Amino acid sequence: MATTRILPKADNFAARVLAWFDQYGRTDLPWQQQPTPYRVWVSEIMLQQTQVATVIPYYQRFMQRFPDLDALAAAAQDDVLKLWEGLGYYSRGRNLHKAAQIIRDSYAGVFPHDITTLETLPGIGRSTAAAILSLSQDQPHAILDGNVKRVLARYHAVEGWPGEIRTLQRLWGYAEQHLPNTRNAAYTQAMMDMGATLCTRSKPRCSECPLQNDCQALLQGNPQAYPGKRAAKVLPEKTAVALVLCNAAGEVFLQKRPPTGIWGGLWSFPEFADSVQLHTWLQENVTQTALAAQVLPTLTHTFSHYRLHLQPLLVDLDTTPSRIMEGSGWLWYKAGSELAGGLSAAVRSHFQH
Ligand code: SF4
Repeated sequence: MATTRILPKADNFAARVLAWFDQYGRTDLPWQQQPTPYRVWVSEIMLQQTQVATVIPYYQRFMQRFPDLDALAAAAQDDVLKLWEGLGYYSRGRNLHKAAQIIRDSYAGVFPHDITTLETLPGIGRSTAAAILSLSQDQPHAILDGNVKRVLARYHAVEGWPGEIRTLQRLWGYAEQHLPNTRNAAYTQAMMDMGATLCTRSKPRCSECPLQNDCQALLQGNPQAYPGKRAAKVLPEKTAVALVLCNAAGEVFLQKRPPTGIWGGLWSFPEFADSVQLHTWLQENVTQTALAAQVLPTLTHTFSHYRLHLQPLLVDLDTTPSRIMEGSGWLWYKAGSELAGGLSAAVRSHFQH
């Protein structure tokens, strides 16, 4: 049977976390230097679903190109997506850009300092808004990102998957309850650091944790049982064919994808439901004569709501067909050359092989 213990008064939770942070917390991350709301905001968006080590070079390039909100708001969406290329979840980049333009146009270019306004901007939820204002302004807001959910779910042995509203509400309640009266920015960073470095998903280092004496999950002997998992979900499978059309100059034909949906706004191969549709398109746009297509290895991409099996068909032309002219929304692309906008994962994996 699980062992439980009466918790000590919660007010020394924050003190223990802060004492740990003073000794072991991270202070050298690029967004911790000059932590303006803008710089913290960009980092928080990039860090969603992405590890710190992956984010750092992207963040540094982004800050070099868009050092402030005005620069980001004035940019073309293509330039923003170009710097996001490879980081995934492109709606984050599109929302960042959109929100910068809203701040410029509706808030006179001044980053909102109140949490209610901040939460209305695209891509900024409750926890992200709280993290931005806490880390950059020392405002007393609780955060609840994936790392913090894990720490609190274990410390309080909260049953259930945090995606369920009841579990989530309990976790928010604990997050608010533990907030310190001072040093909110340090505490927020400390909670993030503890989740990322100590209370990790598969191998928590409980013997080094400042919460080990009364962590309920540890007392039960099974920290990994928390947080609860979502019931297994079978992802639907979809198939499509992609046309890899190469001209005599060794360039490949790319189309810009619609602004929303997967790879939204990125350059990608024309995509069709099946090879019959692909051949019809070829005959209408390239030649009346049917062209031989070479089947390339299937590319599989897993998105949050489905898995796509993309079958690329390579068609080599001896000329550049006059019927396809460059225009907005499509172009001939030479691998490695400069391009306004980002490339889809399908195109990038094609050129890596
Ligand atoms: S004692 Fe272990 S399980 Fe509990 S919060 Fe610390 S690292 Fe996580």
